Amino acid sequence: MTDCVFCRIIARQHPADIEYEDDAVLAFKDIYPKAPVHVLIVPKRHIASVMTMEPGDTEALGRCLLAARRLGEAKGFAGRGYRLRVNCGSEGGQVVDHVHVHFLAGGRATGA
Ligand code: 5GP
Ligand code: ZN
Repeated sequence: MTDCVFCRIIARQHPADIEYEDDAVLAFKDIYPKAPVHVLIVPKRHIASVMTMEPGDTEALGRCLLAARRLGEAKGFAGRGYRLRVNCGSEGGQVVDHVHVHFLAGGRATGA
């Protein structure tokens, strides 16, 4: 059993409110939302951080951005827009060491 909470969510060993899934990506609601819509988009393969990513990780991270586009369209934000945020390392506010894209939408201040 991994001690990575996002890997446990991906393995369905930890509950989450799933919003989108494909072969490379899972997206689920943030447990402590900082915007009216706050979804976390994660690669299914464990990559700790942008700060340690390798050239072979670009496809997985690109798929996260493509998932953001799909989420934005599915949730009706394609015209209005949204904010994507990737926290990197401790001073960048990264708490969970499984890389994730915050999808923030639904208000002008979509989480600083
Ligand atoms: P970070 O600060 O690492 O960029 O973001 C981690 C995010 O994960 C936080 O916004 C936090 O609320 C969310 N989070 C932490 N643990 C869980 C969890 O068990 N389930 C869900 N859905 N979100 C979590
Ligand atoms: Zn993980």
